[in-house]
Amino acid sequence: FPFPIKLSGPVQRGFGRGGKDLGCPTANLPDESIESIASVTKTGVYYGFAQVLPRPEGNELSEDDVKVHPMAMSLGWNPFYKNERLTAEIHIMHEFQADFYGYEMKVVVLGYIRRELDYTTREALIDDIEIDKLVAIRSLDRPDYKKFSTDSFFASK
Ligand code: ADP
Ligand code: MG
Repeated sequence: FPFPIKLSGPVQRGFGRGGKDLGCPTANLPDESIESIASVTKTGVYYGFAQVLPRPEGNELSEDDVKVHPMAMSLGWNPFYKNERLTAEIHIMHEFQADFYGYEMKVVVLGYIRRELDYTTREALIDDIEIDKLVAIRSLDRPDYKKFSTDSFFASK
């Protein structure tokens, strides 16, 4: 795997397919900005760091919101488009003060957690999401990964 993979773009509106209901909102990057990852990686769940940038024209986000945070990303074929389109959905492990649709988001993808799975129950899915978050946090705490949180790719202020 060619990690780190760096992605960025304005956060798009998804289809509200229950991200927030599952306790796991996922911010989407536009198609053009995930071309680089689509060609080199397989579908599944990944971990890394993400940062939402403040908007110069003013914003609803706090100083903490715009820091670099751990993230878990699901890369998969979107059933809404008859599985003809790949989407990257990014859950940032931070409690945001407000939604950030339209804000610029920067993402560094550092590792692969698992392939995509089908779930028979909502509970099973929620359980697995919790495990993914733990795996991501634990992995990112290793010095070799942690150093990417201060990568010059991210805005320092
Ligand atoms: P959508 O279908 O529009 O992606 P979601 O229920 O998945 O809807 O919610 C995603 C949106 O929630 C993001 O675009 C972002 O504006 C907001 N959001 C709030 N907190 C987070 C978070 N911790 N991680 C990702 N997105 C978040
Ligand atoms: Mg979403």
